[in-house]
Amino acid sequence: MVDAELRKIVAEMFDLMYEARGVGLAANQVDLPYRLFIANPEGEPDSKESEFVFINPRFLERKGMAEAEEGCLSLPGLYAMVKRPDQVVINAYNLAGEEVKYELDGLFARIVQHESDHLDGVLFIDRLTPTGRMALSESLAEFELDFRSRQDRAEQPSDEEIAARISELEKART
Ligand code: ZN
Repeated sequence: MVDAELRKIVAEMFDLMYEARGVGLAANQVDLPYRLFIANPEGEPDSKESEFVFINPRFLERKGMAEAEEGCLSLPGLYAMVKRPDQVVINAYNLAGEEVKYELDGLFARIVQHESDHLDGVLFIDRLTPTGRMALSESLAEFELDFRSRQDRAEQPSDEEIAARISELEKART
């Protein structure tokens, strides 16, 4: 599954993520039909040692609970408090095709849960606390409509759509 093409796509996803000043990006956010996400909890293009790729991620454990503010590259400008387990053990494959297991907490644990949620079609706004939901007020309804329609389309992207998205990604690099 991990080949030169996938490595190229992942490099393009990192470019997009940094451009958008994100700390994580799921493949289906950019209409790519892979069950993978990327993360860099530092959010800095220079900190290559903090770049992680999670292919076919699976949680082995989730413990504790913490509340913190989240935003999402798919919902620009929206931020809200989200409650999630604060310690996780996650299993995945990396870009070298090796099976890896990470024990994470704090921000990194939050990122991998947020991104794994994307792969299951779940957004942080689906996990809001009552306080978080109130803070978002009206803008939420508007975003939700728009997002659901994009999500519906992304569920079954045609080959043409995927090819077009990849060439868009390539353009975005230059
Ligand atoms: Zn997101």
